[in-house]
Amino acid sequence: MSFDKSMIGTDIDFDREGVQFGTLRLPHSVHRSAYGHIAIPIAVVAKGSGPTVLLTGGVHGDEYEGPVALARLAREIDPDQVRGRIIIVPTMNHPAFVAGTRTSPIDGINLNRTFPGKRDGTATEMIAHYITTELLPRADCLIDLHAGGSSLQYLPTLLAPRWSAGQGSAHRGPGRGLRGGKRDLLRFDPRPERGGSGDRQFCRSERGRFPDW
Ligand SMILES: [Zn+2]
Repeated sequence: MSFDKSMIGTDIDFDREGVQFGTLRLPHSVHRSAYGHIAIPIAVVAKGSGPTVLLTGGVHGDEYEGPVALARLAREIDPDQVRGRIIIVPTMNHPAFVAGTRTSPIDGINLNRTFPGKRDGTATEMIAHYITTELLPRADCLIDLHAGGSSLQYLPTLLAPRWSAGQGSAHRGPGRGLRGGKRDLLRFDPRPERGGSGDRQFCRSERGRFPDW
């Protein structure tokens, strides 16, 4: 075990085929439990060879749509339709999700602003470190579901990095490019009362104009 290995353990075997439901064990020492932990649900579905897709929700605990959708997907997914691996973590910041708050009730931190995290840091920093060191390296693609939560209202939106044809592979992959440079904003508005037609509207944006990031 290297010094940098995450302090979060799991009963999940990421290399095993089939459907697994388990937990990520976030160390949490409190008065009533010196060696306690917080159990963060995780599901893995794997079959055959293919890419790994990482699906996460609940980075902000008051955004319930992603966790509901991902929990339903984890229950209903048919492994016979999978070629590769799907890792699902519906409530990434589980303490915040349980509390229904955007930031963690343990350390007051916004997980989305904590990357790459810290191995022996606070609860939220340890979660970010686990994502950085254990989940992202396994993933070919990351889809992180957000919503407006209790303080914002969003149209259905997809934010994705845009790479130029000449960029090397070092700039590709989950977690790369989302926080720097330009990215595309893909917005859907299906509400006819608001003039929406359901068509896609593209525009380009710079970092910093969207409060969720
Ligand atoms: Zn969010």
